[in-house]
Amino acid sequence: MQQETRAKLQFWGAAGTVTGSKTLVRYNNKKVLVDCGMFQGLKELRLKNRDDFPINPSEIDAVILTHAHLDHCGMLPALVKNGFAGTIHCTAPTAELAKIILLDSAKIQEEEAEDANKRGYSSHKEAKPLYDRQDAELVFPLFKIHDNSEYVFIDQEIKFQFHHAGHILGAAMVEMELGEDTIVFSGDIGRQKPHLLYPPKKLEKADYIVLESTYGNRNHPDEDPVEALERVILDTLDRQGILMIPTFAVERAQEIIYFIAKLRQQEKIPRIPFYLDSPMAKSATEVFYRFPDWHLLSNEDVQMMQDECTMIEDYYRSQMIIQDKKPKIVLAGSGMITGGRILYYLQKHMGNPNNTILLAGFQAEGTRGRSLMNGEKELKFFGDWYQLKAKVEHLNTLSAHGDQTDLLDWVGQFEKRPKKVFLNHGEPMASHCLALKLKDTLNLDAEETKMGLTYRL
Ligand SMILES: [Zn+2]
Repeated sequence: MQQETRAKLQFWGAAGTVTGSKTLVRYNNKKVLVDCGMFQGLKELRLKNRDDFPINPSEIDAVILTHAHLDHCGMLPALVKNGFAGTIHCTAPTAELAKIILLDSAKIQEEEAEDANKRGYSSHKEAKPLYDRQDAELVFPLFKIHDNSEYVFIDQEIKFQFHHAGHILGAAMVEMELGEDTIVFSGDIGRQKPHLLYPPKKLEKADYIVLESTYGNRNHPDEDPVEALERVILDTLDRQGILMIPTFAVERAQEIIYFIAKLRQQEKIPRIPFYLDSPMAKSATEVFYRFPDWHLLSNEDVQMMQDECTMIEDYYRSQMIIQDKKPKIVLAGSGMITGGRILYYLQKHMGNPNNTILLAGFQAEGTRGRSLMNGEKELKFFGDWYQLKAKVEHLNTLSAHGDQTDLLDWVGQFEKRPKKVFLNHGEPMASHCLALKLKDTLNLDAEETKMGLTYRL
């Protein structure tokens, strides 16, 4: 076999788009996949999840998982099902959260396939899930847990460390050494001062950076999230309405619960019923409580969250809360309204102008959340169209992603100027704008990556 002296990168996803993160690193005759995420959002993207992997998964030596979001871990069951049998390296909270997220994803896919076959509204002849719960469970024994800053050797020439990324619980950037070269994968990188997490680690040396660019063309508003939540809650209560918050199960749910719990304790808002109606977010919140070293919340904070927010798991209890028209605050999945219990709340309550839908985070192209953000007045789900009369609010200030300034600051602190920055995980305008900024302000060679292309280092 010919010795590979220069590393190669190939982007199998999250190039020219935000989802489907999968980057293959080839070096020293090893193949390492950084993340194995699912495409989400636009149908043409989702269909890509059905494509064969570009190489046989049995040829991949190891996976390095930056964090547990579905767009980073969601295709692991398919990878294993198609022959991958190596190690999946991750942090301890990432392993626990990924288990929850993958089982939920498998369940949703099983249900959607079953539903589509029953209703006959699928365009396929027979709808099949991408993978089922058994497939998801085959992933878990492959997880290998690592501490932050621990050196992990793939072989003598390839080693890496995880460092805090400030994005979600357990999320890590990857500092990888390939022979003489250091390449840093930012993974998804949080704001400079995340509310509940340690900030993204500032690194000194990188020859190459693979940088996410979700908010490469924007800065988050400066609004204080607690004040913003207070305003939206009081405004909804003025109308005796229901506040529905489609929420990401990991991080966003815990942040919002923490903020609202604080507002209640400080008596800035009345103590109306406050629910987290999402079995997945409930499990994720429990993982949060189990890993106190990985976040900034004190035991008292955790106790306050448990005291103030009622977590619902039971389906019948959920149905009763959905039917009830009295004022309340409900957090329910999913965060971009692509599925989950939030749909039942919307079905019942989005036609009432007294109610509010609060979008709290990034809404990918093609999702119902994005449609609402764009001002569309009806949504399609369960095979029907539903009219929107409720008020829609959007809090960008609660992003788990750094904005343009955060990204430029993080790249700017490397002591040695990187030879090149590869931009991924952004819609084309966002990546393009960030590339120009990196060139103009930091004099860096920045390249917007293309799906499927191979880049030599
Ligand atoms: Zn993420």
